[in-house]
Parts: sequence; structure tokens; C-alpha cells
Amino acid sequence: MTNTDAGPWTTEHRLTIRTQIESRPGPLNEATGDRWAEHRKTGLTLIACNCGFTTGWAPAAELPALAELTAQHGGT
Ligand SMILES: [Zn+2]
Repeated sequence: MTNTDAGPWTTEHRLTIRTQIESRPGPLNEATGDRWAEHRKTGLTLIACNCGFTTGWAPAAELPALAELTAQHGGT
């Protein structure tokens, strides 16, 4: 390898947060026949990293703040 070649591919740390949502068909509007979807948060949150690390779904209050985890784990 010379110093003009591309470097190696790496799975760098990139933390992201996902918030779990649950959905259901709402009540039927008998006048219009429409049924709107309803969505709400379950209270579970997951932090995942591009490197493969994940906290798994957990109550948001039990997970560290993203800034704190970034300081411990690495990434931006
Ligand atoms: Zn990572």
C-alpha cells in the first residue's frame, strides 16, 4: 500500500436514538366510514451505534443521556 491508496473501511461510531411507537386502527367514524390510524409512544427507547452496539429497548429513564453515552462509547 502506498500513501496515495485509499485507507481501510471502518464501521465508525455513530450513535442514534430510536423511540418505539405503537399504532392501532382508531374508532370508526360512522358518518364518513373513515378509520384513522392512532399512534403513541410506548416509553421504550433504544440507542444503537453504527459499529453494532445497541442498548436494546429499555425505558427511556434507564438509559444514559446520548451525550454521556457518546463520551463513554465514542462517536459524534
Ligand atoms: Zn459504536
